[in-house]
Amino acid sequence: MTIDHGIKTIGIIGSGQMGGGIAQIGAVHGFKTIIYDLSDNALTKCKTLHEKLLARAVQKERMTQNEAAAALANITYASNIEALDPSDIVIEAVVENADIKKQIFADLATRFTGNQILATNTSSISITDIATSVGDAADRFIGMHFFNPVPVMKLVEVINGLATSQETTDRVLALSTAMGKVAVPANDRAGFVSNRILMPMINEAFYAWMEGVAEPEHIDQIMTLGMAHPMGPLRLADFIGLDTCQHIMEVMAEGLNNPRYLACPLLKQLVTAGRLGNKTGQGVFDYPQK
Ligand code: NAD
Repeated sequence: MTIDHGIKTIGIIGSGQMGGGIAQIGAVHGFKTIIYDLSDNALTKCKTLHEKLLARAVQKERMTQNEAAAALANITYASNIEALDPSDIVIEAVVENADIKKQIFADLATRFTGNQILATNTSSISITDIATSVGDAADRFIGMHFFNPVPVMKLVEVINGLATSQETTDRVLALSTAMGKVAVPANDRAGFVSNRILMPMINEAFYAWMEGVAEPEHIDQIMTLGMAHPMGPLRLADFIGLDTCQHIMEVMAEGLNNPRYLACPLLKQLVTAGRLGNKTGQGVFDYPQK
């Protein structure tokens, strides 16, 4: 049976890597998309990136000029939160900080009092915890965990909080499909499924390096050539951001109440030194800045 998700307009908060990607795929799949950010600079960057990526898709004959123009016309870039009002769902993609997310959702819960869905793209924070900020709207609150880069990665991990209603889950599963993704459900435990398995593997790679089991490039080669991973765990950590990896390990250590999730001292040391990966030009490996 096909569920009617009832969504025509998608609101997004945060126009960074993830929010921008979610807006792009929403617009490409025919949804009116309103993206709000408190930084005008971030919105401008996001719009420029959309124009560039859609022009490239036309060049590579993955879409026509008309389709690209229609997708761009579907997107509204907004620097005031009221612009989100027509949304049938709001997907939050701001910094990974529980207090900031809760503040945003407490405000959204007062604006969206109908059957609109409130969703977070958090990669590690408890959905049930963030949902405490929305009061009675907790049944309409859910985790929609997209992957980076959003236009390329097929998965959306859909996470129910303790109070999420079946109707909300069904609508979000149907919406994810309509956005061209494969939605897979998971329960609300720190790290969900994806990071619970990925992050300890990355952390173990840092331990292997720290204990001198192999050089970083050899650890990555063993995992790419031997396990057919498209990217080694250390290069992947650089791509994700070493600070993000450390943060997710800390959330899991606390949330799962288990010291085996504590971040490797070498990972923490690189973060302390400001070697955060691609974004700072140096992490495990060096990335000459253009
Ligand atoms: P980002 O830093 O690229 O973008 C965050 C954006 O949010 C910025 O443009 C910032 O100006 C804006 N912002 C911050 N506070 C705001 C507020 N109060 N109101 C409106 N806008 C605000 O971050 P990102 O990498 O896109 O990550 C966003 C979320 O997605 C995080 O929760 C992260 O854990 C999650 N996530 C990230 C990845 C990834 O690989 N980057 C993958 C999956 C999930």
